[in-house]
Amino acid sequence: MSKFLKEGYASLAPYVPGEQPKEKKYIKLNTNESPFPPSMRAQTLAKAELEKLMLYPDPDCKALTKAIAKRYEVGDNQVIVNNGSDETLYFAFLAYCDEKRPAVFLDITYGFYQVFADMVGCPSVKIPLNADFSVPVDELKKANGTIFLANPNAPTGLVLSLDKIEEIVAADRERVVVVDEAYVDFGAESSVKLLKKYDNLLVTQTFSKSRSLAGARLGFGIAGAEIIADLQRIKYSTNPYNVNRTTAAAGLGAIEDEAYFQANCQKIIDSRTWAKAQLESLGFTCTDSKANFLFAKSDRIGGEALYLALKDAGVLVRHFKTERIKDYNRITVGSQEEMQVLIDKIKTILEARK
Ligand code: PMP
Repeated sequence: MSKFLKEGYASLAPYVPGEQPKEKKYIKLNTNESPFPPSMRAQTLAKAELEKLMLYPDPDCKALTKAIAKRYEVGDNQVIVNNGSDETLYFAFLAYCDEKRPAVFLDITYGFYQVFADMVGCPSVKIPLNADFSVPVDELKKANGTIFLANPNAPTGLVLSLDKIEEIVAADRERVVVVDEAYVDFGAESSVKLLKKYDNLLVTQTFSKSRSLAGARLGFGIAGAEIIADLQRIKYSTNPYNVNRTTAAAGLGAIEDEAYFQANCQKIIDSRTWAKAQLESLGFTCTDSKANFLFAKSDRIGGEALYLALKDAGVLVRHFKTERIKDYNRITVGSQEEMQVLIDKIKTILEARK
């Protein structure tokens, strides 16, 4: 760190992404990527853009924005396309958090919320999840500030029903509620439906998980036209060309290929069900995850010990050292073959400890 860095940034604890080791070939079940390649239509459209890379992309991503608006049955002016949902979330922190409006989020949730709060220099209020990891809805209803809620939550995978989300949004229409739906396509209901009634709601989604485009960096926000205009204002004041040509084209292909998307989501749901039953038969406790990951703890081996043993055996999962969840691991649902290897390795590890 140089002596020139601004004070606020010097004390920042940046987000730590899941490991991407290069020294050995791992089965990667640690960053919730899709095991399936992008749709062929996404690949074809993206390739066609390569010869146009000397030209700036369309900053409004008009074709993609229209396709997303059509898919989610909202107006074109209700959609913003960004560089991953992380960027939409960051824009929301910039737009709606300050001294008077702290960022409000759960104690166990997506780790980036705290980093974004620190980045924009706003206070944050952490509301503890209940002992069973369920969301304390009444606490969120009462909270003063801008609410950031991942649904399904990460890393628990637990879903909050739409009527509970509506209660939170309706409780105070003078504050913004951001629902981060990075994992919504694997079994939760989207809050987009609520936008017909509420103008204080922002829903963020991503192409990184269910649409197999994590490497392209593409996400979007859906809200009332006024909130979208706020976010556009921030986008055009930082980087109007935040989505490159190939990514926008890949996104268009992916959103047009509904059948491939649906089939892949179903495969993940089926493998999740299978892997959860296998883990439970081995003595694990799993949350009722509706995401593309399982959140599991063993009655025979600690969370960190299992993470390390699996890593040694060539399977990467995500372990968090946070006290409340240190016994657990978050395990991405990969292909059925990958899940079979995971279960076989866990059996071997548990066997060796007998
Ligand atoms: N929200 C949640 C809850 C996530 O887990 C992630 C992925 N790490 C994101 C947002 C960001 O996803 P992306 O920027 O790839 O769209």
